[in-house]
Amino acid sequence: MTDRNRDETLDPQDWEAFRTDARRILDDTIDYLQGRREEPVWQRMPDTVRQGFSAPAPDEGQSLATTYAEYRATVRPYLIGNNHPRFWGWVNGNGTPTAMLAEMLAASIDPNCAGADQAPRDLELQVVRWFAEAYGLPSDCGGLMVSGGSEANLVCLAAARQRMDPDARRLGVDPARADLVFYCSAEAHFSIGRALEVLGLGADSLRHVPCGDDGRVDVSAVRAAIAEDRAAGRRPAAICANLGTVNTGAIDPLNDLADLAEQEQIWLHIDGAFGALLALSDSHRDLAAGMERADSVAFDLHKWAYQPYECACALVRDGSVLDDAFGFDAPYLDREPGGMLDVDFGLAWRGVQLSRGFKALKIWFTIKQEGMTKLGRMIDQNCAQAQRLTEWIVADPRLELLAPTVTCVVNFRLHPSGMDNEAELDALNQRIVAHLHNSGLAVPSATRVHGRYAIRPAYTNHRTTEADLRLFMDAVVGFAIE
Ligand SMILES: *Cc1c(COP(=O)(O)O)cnc(C)c1O
Repeated sequence: MTDRNRDETLDPQDWEAFRTDARRILDDTIDYLQGRREEPVWQRMPDTVRQGFSAPAPDEGQSLATTYAEYRATVRPYLIGNNHPRFWGWVNGNGTPTAMLAEMLAASIDPNCAGADQAPRDLELQVVRWFAEAYGLPSDCGGLMVSGGSEANLVCLAAARQRMDPDARRLGVDPARADLVFYCSAEAHFSIGRALEVLGLGADSLRHVPCGDDGRVDVSAVRAAIAEDRAAGRRPAAICANLGTVNTGAIDPLNDLADLAEQEQIWLHIDGAFGALLALSDSHRDLAAGMERADSVAFDLHKWAYQPYECACALVRDGSVLDDAFGFDAPYLDREPGGMLDVDFGLAWRGVQLSRGFKALKIWFTIKQEGMTKLGRMIDQNCAQAQRLTEWIVADPRLELLAPTVTCVVNFRLHPSGMDNEAELDALNQRIVAHLHNSGLAVPSATRVHGRYAIRPAYTNHRTTEADLRLFMDAVVGFAIE
């Protein structure tokens, strides 16, 4: 029964009891992280557990301890497993204990990072500047934290559209005007196309230019496509370059594309979802050369900066284009001079979100604690792991490398001597991947390289050791003897 004479709140009624529960939860969580390696990477959720998620919303509450016990039994064990040392699927990050605490601290102060004069705004801009400088972009370049590479690509391409067609916001796609055209490689991430669709430009506004065998775009083919579009009366708007394709980790010739964009007076966008972070590493920085010439760069921090989801950033050399692309006036957001909202620009006027979470705090904590140099070393370590695996593959006649290893992505297959039927090879390697997943031993993902099914581990995991690589290879090669 509610006591109508007392105000209710969602704060604890008994703060001491809450403190005890919270400490238990934190302790148990730290134990979990410490012991994660001993558990399977992935395990299938039993039907009984799945059925639990069909239960209706409870009318009445239960204790925090009871809900935690439920979470511990039904949620925590059933993950794709990207926080495990032997998870190398797609391109995923793993989180860090420090970033976990920072997430909790961010929730405790719960700032809405829309704009206004508050420390989280300055901290976010500081983080953005740290990366701009690490990438060789101007330190006053515009940018903001976003949910992921997909949103970062969207924000950057909205800026590109704004620069190349200042009337686009007002007129939309107007049949009376020439079409804008964007260029990417056949290996580009689908989020580039989706961004253009969301911007209302239509999938046909994107040219997928062929790549060489090495997965890098053919620059002369980009030049030819631009010329063809100009001749047909269309308006070339932007080149979207890959700094690390998701399939093989290939890097487009960034400097050549920057030259071309300059000659053509069009925008250069770089999708550096994971590859941009190479700029932090001593041994691999050269691979990112040319990024400093981009008009915009999209990159994730929840991949190769190992942050918990979600954490990413959109950088735009000329931040005022973002204001033009996203700015809005509304009476309920009037800025009184000298008041709390009287800041140069609000981040909510530079992207798609109004209310915004405090995504910058976790990476700020991480960088403060570890330093940029250590982050760079972790990236080097991951590249070295990919190289180590590649050496084993090349040295083992039962294994076949299916694409050059440039960064952290390896594509290979088991190819037992005498088995030359492509369908049989595909089926064998599919069986291997399914076995690795189902046994909980390791989670690589898979792709197709020139039509061939490839086992595709991507090393963006700060927990992986050499022993983990060995365990994985032994399991793969184990299939050769059958
Ligand atoms: C992952 C990825 C994206 C999309 O990023 P999300 O954070 O998943 O939205 C875009 N481009 C490339 C190259 C990627 O690897």
